[in-house]
Amino acid sequence: MRVILAQPRGFCAGVIRAIDIVERALQIFGAPVYVRHEIVHNRHVVERLRAKGARFVEDLSEIPTGAISIFSAHGVATSVEDDARERGLRVLDATCPLVAKVHGQGKRYVAAGRRVILVGHAGHPEVEGTMGQIPGHVLLVQTAADVAALDLHPDTPVAYITQTTLSVDDTRGVIAAIERRFSDVVGPDTNDICYATQNRQSAVRELAKIADVILVVGAKNSSNSNRLREIGLEIGVPSYLIADGSEVRSGWFRESDVVGVTAGASAPEDLVNDVVAALRSTGPIELSMLAGITENVEFRLPAELIRARSATATAS
Ligand code: SF4
Repeated sequence: MRVILAQPRGFCAGVIRAIDIVERALQIFGAPVYVRHEIVHNRHVVERLRAKGARFVEDLSEIPTGAISIFSAHGVATSVEDDARERGLRVLDATCPLVAKVHGQGKRYVAAGRRVILVGHAGHPEVEGTMGQIPGHVLLVQTAADVAALDLHPDTPVAYITQTTLSVDDTRGVIAAIERRFSDVVGPDTNDICYATQNRQSAVRELAKIADVILVVGAKNSSNSNRLREIGLEIGVPSYLIADGSEVRSGWFRESDVVGVTAGASAPEDLVNDVVAALRSTGPIELSMLAGITENVEFRLPAELIRARSATATAS
């Protein structure tokens, strides 16, 4: 069996930064530190951080006053920031800078007098955070039919923004519908879309050209991992979303198959290795990796954490 790894795959810069923030907070301040929501959508990552002393909560009321509190990479609404302030929590914000950039774009559009339309999935934490960061009523659409149903005059000045885990390809149809429906539309440059989402989706398309089966390593509640699986299926390749090697099923492939393996932006590389080991346990494999983009994006840690680290180093 040939096993081919997509490139790039797995952790993006926003996820690396979010995990780094929790680990450094544990080192600097000691356990426990509190994290609102799963820091990233991956059970293995969450369990490892929990074992080191992170406590995951869904509501700030579960956090004692004065405790170190970390917001997840998905971002939060301003009402959550206000709540944290009122409760006297010491906040470290792990919101991905690319998500924060979307918040900033939305605020600028509102300040310029436009109604903001967000292209995204209802109920996703990033969408809830973005809607709660932008003043006024943000209109959420998922499909061209949602755009048609918007109760707005066609001459209303509008602006669109997008959930970061949707790629240029995902949003193209909905944005085209917005541009047909309204006479005065602005939106961010398509280069602004998350580089990691775009790169992982392009890589899975390349993989689908040569693979008989695609395995996507990622969590069931990870939006970008689900999207990678859907792309494989759209191209006509049987594709499965699996958490780790224990979920590999021998009935999915024959010995002669080419098995493509990729991973969502919140899945660590050791889970990819675990899946490769599970494939190897079924018989000999020939392992290779597609040529692809090498990413070198890095995001800075929050200033509060850098200051706290310097203070600790000085004191010791
Ligand atoms: S997928 Fe993109 S927006 Fe989301 S955390 Fe990673 S870098 Fe940030």
